[in-house]
Amino acid sequence: MRCPFCGNVDTQVKDSRPAEDHVSIRRRRFCPACGGRFTTYERVQLRDLVVVKSSGKREPFDRDKMERSIRIAMQKRPIEPERIEQMISGIVRRLESMGDTDVPSRVIGEIVMETLARIDTVAYVRFASVYKNFQAADDFDKFVSELRPPVLPDD
Ligand SMILES: [Zn+2]
Repeated sequence: MRCPFCGNVDTQVKDSRPAEDHVSIRRRRFCPACGGRFTTYERVQLRDLVVVKSSGKREPFDRDKMERSIRIAMQKRPIEPERIEQMISGIVRRLESMGDTDVPSRVIGEIVMETLARIDTVAYVRFASVYKNFQAADDFDKFVSELRPPVLPDD
């Protein structure tokens, strides 16, 4: 696992235990090169999902991409990291159990919005306001770059 701080590929696992959501393993890692500490979650993937864009273009579902957009929307919100992790696993499980490996990108956006709406109104509004402009564009990379972290004073 590459160190997110310095890029060193030789990091060490300090501790492994089941995560709160009980479907992933949480690992505390340490980078001997820069002293950085970070956490990874390892999980079993039940099915390989394919995202179908409105243009008909298909691409493999990218959990990290979805997670990135959710984390940006939730930045500086008073929500436990474990809660966010649980929420993302919940969304993926829902997608995996929909009975079809092909999932329209629109459905993913809707499930994310629905879930955010239940958990945090501010994060929901951030996500939804950007998402709605991109339903037509259907370009998730563009969507993520548009969903910039809000400029807030450091606490
Ligand atoms: Zn490092």
